[in-house]
Parts: sequence; C-alpha cells; structure tokens
Amino acid sequence: MMTTQPSIWTDPLRPAARPTLGRNLSCDVAVIGGGLAGILTARFLQDAGADVVVLEKHHIGAGETGRTTAKITAQHDLIYHTLSQRRGPVTARLYAQANLAAIDQYEALIRTLPTDCGFTRCPAYLYTNGSGHRLQLEFLAAKQAGIPCALVRKTELPVPVTLALRFDQQARFQPLEFLHAVAPGLTVYEGTPVERIRRGTRHTRLETPGGTVSARVVVFAAHYPLVTVPGWYFTRLHQERSYVIALQNAFLPYGMYLGIDPDGLSFRMAGDYLLLGGGGHRTGEDPGHPYEVLEARAKTLWPQCRVARRWSAQDCMTVDNVPYIGQYAPSTPDWFVATGFRKWGMTTSMVAAQVLSDLITGAPDPYIPVFDPARSLKGSVGNLMNEMGHAAKGLTRGLFQGRRCSHMGCRLEWNAAEGSWDCPCHGSRFAPDGTVLNDPAMEDTNLE
Ligand SMILES: Cc1cc2nc3c(=O)[nH]c(=O)nc-3n(C[C@H](O)[C@H](O)[C@H](O)COP(=O)(O)OP(=O)(O)OC[C@H]3O[C@@H](n4cnc5c(N)ncnc54)[C@H](O)[C@@H]3O)c2cc1C
Repeated sequence: MMTTQPSIWTDPLRPAARPTLGRNLSCDVAVIGGGLAGILTARFLQDAGADVVVLEKHHIGAGETGRTTAKITAQHDLIYHTLSQRRGPVTARLYAQANLAAIDQYEALIRTLPTDCGFTRCPAYLYTNGSGHRLQLEFLAAKQAGIPCALVRKTELPVPVTLALRFDQQARFQPLEFLHAVAPGLTVYEGTPVERIRRGTRHTRLETPGGTVSARVVVFAAHYPLVTVPGWYFTRLHQERSYVIALQNAFLPYGMYLGIDPDGLSFRMAGDYLLLGGGGHRTGEDPGHPYEVLEARAKTLWPQCRVARRWSAQDCMTVDNVPYIGQYAPSTPDWFVATGFRKWGMTTSMVAAQVLSDLITGAPDPYIPVFDPARSLKGSVGNLMNEMGHAAKGLTRGLFQGRRCSHMGCRLEWNAAEGSWDCPCHGSRFAPDGTVLNDPAMEDTNLE
C-alpha cells in the first residue's frame, strides 16, 4: 500500500526557523495560522499600517498550502452557472471580478519580490467526455460574469475530450516559494499553537504554551475556524480530501486542466513534473486505493512515466460553494475569518486578504457581501440538511462504538491510504498514536 510523502513544493526550500512565542505581548491584529490566507492577510494589514502578529502552530506553509496543486485561477470547477441561478448574475460577476483581480494582484506583488516564484500565465480548462451541456451552461454564465473564456473541442490532453471550457490568462506558481518570499518583515511566531481564546470587552487573549497575545482584532486563518460557538461553522462546513502524484517523463506544454466527469483528473506542469490529481472524497469516507488508481491512469496515458512523489491534502467546503470570508459572527465584530476555499484557496486567499484588510481598516470593498459568512444560505437548505445528517450519524456511532474524535465525539474511520484515523463529521484527522493531524480537533485523542 502506497502512503503519502511531502509535496514537491518543499524540495528547494530551507527557510530559517522563526522564533516561538516565549512572553506575553499586545498587538492591533493577531492572525492565527501561517498558511497562504494568514500570511497574505497579515501582509496586507501591515502594509496598511497595522501592528500585526502571526501565530503558527508548526511552521509557515505546514498546512494545506504546502500540499496544494497551486493553480491560480478564477475557474473554480463548475460555479458560475449555479451561483448566478442562486444569488443572481450581479453576485456571480462580483465573484469573478474578485478572483480575476486576485490573479493580477499576485502578478503585481511577485514583481516586487526577489524571486518570480515560478509565476506563469497560462489558460485553465474544464473538460468533459460527456454531453457538454453543463460546460455550455457554465460558459454562458462565465461570459456573462465578464470572464475571458471560450468553448473548444480540441485540447492537448491525452484523454478523450468532447468539450472543454477555456479561461484565458490564468496562472500557476510555486506556493511555498511565494509564501517565504512574502513573509519576511512580518512578525511570525512558529511552533506557537493557540490553545485557548478568551474574548474580553476591549481585547481578545490568545493563550499559547509560551505566552499570551492580547489583540484588539483577531483573524482566524487556521484553515478550519477554531471557535465552535459563536459562528457555528461546523454546521455549514465539511472537509474533502484528494490525492496528487508528481510524474517525471510526462508532459503537457500549455494549460492546466480539471475534468468535471466522475473520473475527471487534474493536470498541471510544475517544472519537470506533471502533477496529476484526483480521487476526491469526503474526509472520513473510505478512499479505496487512490494512489494506485492514479498511477494506473498515469501509466496508460504516459507509459514511460515515473511516479516521483505522492501526497494528499484536504480543504473545507461550504454549503453554497462560496468561501466564508468576513466577520466571524454578528456578536464578535472584532473577529474575522477566512475559510471554506473548496480547493481554490490560492486565488481566494488573495481575495480574503483584500476583503479582510478592507473590513478591518474600514475601506470600501464591493466584494464584502459576496463572501460574508452571515449571508443567507436559504438556497442551500439541502446541503445544510446533508451536513446535519452526517454529523448526527457520526455522533451516534461515536456514542456506541469505536474510536472517537476529540472535537465533538464522532466515530473515526481508518484511512488505509494515509494511515490515519479520519472524522467523517468535520474532517479532523489523527495519526495512529492519536496525535491530531488536522483541525478542527485541537487536542489529541485516545485511540486505545
Ligand atoms: C489536493 C488539493 C489541491 C489543491 N489545489 C489547489 C489549486 O490548484 N488552486 C487553488 O486555488 N487551491 C487549491 N487547493 C486549495 C488550497 O490549497 C487551500 O485552499 C489553501 O492552501 C488553504 O490555505 P489556508 O491558509 O486557509 O490553510 P493552511 O495552508 O492549512 O494554513 C492554516 C495554518 O494554520 C495553522 N494552524 C492551525 N491551527 C492552529 C492553531 N490552533 N494555532 C496556530 N496555528 C494553527 C496550521 O498549522 C496551518 O499552517 C487545493 C486543495 C487540495 C486539497
């Protein structure tokens, strides 16, 4: 059985370790989480004049940002048709504009850095070998939303394609090189997990093993929101995991691709590697043999290829497919959150940095209502009910049998592909010795 390895993004990087918090301090803004969302938000706020501190449990880029496939694109699987139907064409247009602007912001920011971070403009494609009806609807909605795009029948892919939807002028990059190039100049404490959060009248106290940070404003960028109440994010978020292999001797010179059929794959070049992704499933469900399946697909497409690396990652999924970016809850005007990126958190971390820094500094921003976590979810009642069903099932099973998650007590399921115990309710994961691997669980669990 094959298991996970570090991603290719970590290979060339030997960043110096940052200090661990060893005293109490105060700041304007504390950002919890040193992934792309946290670091970019901290950078935007510091550039706007705020005194910002980032608290990171492990080291920056240790989370999902270090395991992504790093396409920077406004093409977020199928979204524009549904978004336009549910929330109207104006919201779909704003969603598109926010994400197209994010690609330009990457390009502009990277120009100021000492490295180009592998940033390359290229087209992004959705492809199908089916009827093409869903792509035609998506094309019309994307065009109406102002995205430069086209339907095409011919691609460079070695798989059968009946129709593809191309978005022009998208991009790809090396995410960890970018993260480490953006972070210098920020005050970041690594090896500093936030263990308790106490909100007072004027400040919030964030307790870590080495000291307490007292902050006027807190940004929750820890991937999954850490505080259960208020916010109640666990009722409207779940996590999905998927698998990536890095191939040598396989090549696609031009675009980035994502299949919309059930057996669809993700493709992009990264230097000498071709990244092939797939096998997505709700965390906690049995993935079968995802690496073996991907490798077998790769060998049929490029018989000479060699699998150089394999890894997996997971991301938070919202019930209406739009991230939750904004005020944490109506009762906490000094807390902010960025989560629910639905496997598109490269572009939407940049959107989050812009929206959150505008909210915190009071600058006008047309995108705030689009991502507002307090928006109406009435068009997504079916998905909300589904989330509740999963939680009820996991909790009931946890009551009567099996190993339980330290988050809310749901029964954990064994993921043989990863060698981990995974929670089907909210996506926490644990090593075989009970050490917590993924939030929202903040504590280890007893697996005996
Ligand atoms: C297989 C796969 C492929 C993907 N490919 C793409 C892609 O091509 N394009 C795209 O746009 N998106 C992609 N994504 C999504 C993208 O990788 C994520 O949305 C993004 O990396 C999330 O960034 P983040 O900063 O929110 O989270 P993270 O990178 O996970 O950062 C959160 C940080 O918070 C820290 N933390 C957690 N708890 C605490 C605590 N208590 N105290 C202190 N720190 C804490 C963690 O250690 C971590 O470093 C992909 C996702 C998957 C699963």
